[in-house]
Amino acid sequence: MRRVSIFGATGSIGQNTLDLIRRDRDSYDIVALTGGRNVAQLAQDAREFGADIAVTAFDDALPDLRDALADSGAEAAAGSAAILEAADRPVDWIMSAIIGAAGLEPGMRALRHGATLALANKESLVCAGPLLMAEAKKHGARIMPVDSEHSAVFQGLIGEDHDTVEKVTITASGGAFRKTPLNVLKDVTPDQAMRHPNWSMGARITIDSASMFNKALELIETKEFFGFESNQIDAILHPESIVHAMVSFHDGGVMAHMGAPDMRHAIGFALNWPERRDLPVTALDLLEIGQLNFEPLDETRWPAIRLGRAVMKAGGLTGAAFNAAKERAMDGFIARDIRFTDMAPVVEDVLNQMSVEFRLSSAEITLDSVGEIDQMARIRAEEAIRART
Ligand code: NAD
Ligand code: MG
Repeated sequence: MRRVSIFGATGSIGQNTLDLIRRDRDSYDIVALTGGRNVAQLAQDAREFGADIAVTAFDDALPDLRDALADSGAEAAAGSAAILEAADRPVDWIMSAIIGAAGLEPGMRALRHGATLALANKESLVCAGPLLMAEAKKHGARIMPVDSEHSAVFQGLIGEDHDTVEKVTITASGGAFRKTPLNVLKDVTPDQAMRHPNWSMGARITIDSASMFNKALELIETKEFFGFESNQIDAILHPESIVHAMVSFHDGGVMAHMGAPDMRHAIGFALNWPERRDLPVTALDLLEIGQLNFEPLDETRWPAIRLGRAVMKAGGLTGAAFNAAKERAMDGFIARDIRFTDMAPVVEDVLNQMSVEFRLSSAEITLDSVGEIDQMARIRAEEAIRART
């Protein structure tokens, strides 16, 4: 039996992970499940899977969670300290699927007992890539990418020597506004931004897909995870979301990873590695799809890509500031304090202010320094939002 914990169990990735585990229940022993305000789902899953402990991120949700878990045998706990305590419980495999920078610390803690960390939380690598990778190395823990593009790159690199790689290209679907006239973009609503043409995901990453902040994070994630140079990493538009990434080698060969857009492939790959097992994913039928299209990413439509490329090059704590400013700007857009098209300028303002002031690209990356820069970037983003309202 493999001991497994799922952080962010009630979210889109968490639920897909439980879906795979449910199909092979007897092979897994569920230790901890964590969630947020969706206490009913969290309690239901904790009961179904016989979890030792269920943790909600929010203290005020604890009474409801306790009630829902009464007589279940599962412990109930709340708050970020309780999430970290749950991450200290030794397991063989952990899914890191909390959304946002809040996912960093639980992942860091889980690495300490040498577990395999299945990393959906790309923000961990964006905010503190070198720290996370060093922690894994120190404890002999493995990090498996769960982002579809990064799982694709990982698969394209199996058995290959990194020195033979010319470049790595990840693809972007274009999100909700690929064809929206540029002059209309300033008027789009959060509801419109939450409609993804190909992928079914959580609300925030779906908005990030519409703005391309998601792809910007993924460029940085590629650099931090695989260790290629910034100039070897690119992103292109591919509306069908069938080719998830391509690895180009010096000899002219290119390994492209294809599959139906279903996160259970990447999650299942990370769960079963180094084996490949059957997964409930629709078989790819290229004849039915007929055409695959590729275009350059338009940085006028998606200024987040330009920012992402710059942050990827800058390194250090620039990613922590970028991600926090982006998270705060998105809150502002969801609350309708700023327009969709204000998010990138808000983030750029914050980066312009902080890069020199805090020497972000050369600053030392520690959990404390990441936390401080994260907080400061949120304050600066808040000011930039207020200046626009
Ligand atoms: P989601 O919003 O559906 O779920 C997020 C989970 O995190 C929920 O369980 C929620 O309760 C919990 N959570 C929210 N705020 C928290 C906090 N402050 N502290 C602790 N827990 C908190 O998100 P998702 O779409 O499943 O994405 C999860 C992660 O996976 C993100 O980092 C995202 O970028 C990444 N990812 C998602 C997809 C996808 O298809 N959904 C694809 C690739 C990568
Ligand atoms: Mg992705």
